[in-house]
Amino acid sequence: IDLTGKSAIVTGSGRGIGRAIAVKLAELGAAVTICDISEEIASATVSELRQRGLEADYFVLDVADADAARALIEKTAEKRGKLDILVNNAGINRDAMLHKMERKQWDEVIAVNLTGTYNTMQPASIQMREQKSGRIINISSSSWMGNIGQANYAASKAGVIGLTKTASRELAKYNVTVNAICPGFIDTDMTRGVPDKVWDLMISKIPMGRAGAPEDVANLIAFLASDTASYITGEVINIGGGMVL
Ligand code: NAD
Repeated sequence: IDLTGKSAIVTGSGRGIGRAIAVKLAELGAAVTICDISEEIASATVSELRQRGLEADYFVLDVADADAARALIEKTAEKRGKLDILVNNAGINRDAMLHKMERKQWDEVIAVNLTGTYNTMQPASIQMREQKSGRIINISSSSWMGNIGQANYAASKAGVIGLTKTASRELAKYNVTVNAICPGFIDTDMTRGVPDKVWDLMISKIPMGRAGAPEDVANLIAFLASDTASYITGEVINIGGGMVL
């Protein structure tokens, strides 16, 4: 896969899966905008990539802020002359059983995971229609099928799938592909936060017997972002070591 000359944005890429995606795209030749709500980790990732001679800059934003998301898309396209790849990875969880869930937990998760994805896709769709090319890849989750204790998260990730499928049909004739991927259980700060008992339970559900690595996900994204994947659109691809939720 060669992404030389491509301009890419990865949201939530200061750490975890997003970081691995940004590193992979940069290693394959793309100029990558790392964006994250935390300046500290975004700038650290950029410094590391630059030290390796790779092209990267960073943008600090909360994807739930529509104006900031629009500025991210417009400024990146202006600076690099185009936007080839948008990966919507920023995501949070605020887990609780439905009967104990507070409205704040619902609102925060929907605002970041679902509205945040809309906030970048909407201006990106304008840019990509104009340039008649583009790749949008949204990070959903296998949890969309109904993970206990994650009604808010599952609803947000199911919403991302609907958004992906509709956008894929609207943008297909402009040579823009839109796909979603559903990671299973990936070893990041998000999953390291679960109690040991839950960790062991999740691993027991994975036929391959291990949590995924962020790099496993990054490899799939690199493929979907490449010219090789030009006829794949509107798809929802699981990546979970065989896990069925
Ligand atoms: P993580 O918590 O390790 O990293 C998330 C990153 O997003 C962080 O760098 C964080 O600062 C950033 N972020 C959070 N809120 C933001 C906001 N409002 N605006 C901008 N940036 C923000 O999580 P992760 O495990 O790497 O997850 C990445 C994505 O993959 C998420 O969308 C998550 O829902 C999804 N996912 C993860 C798993 C898993 O097992 N880890 C499984 C399925 C899906």
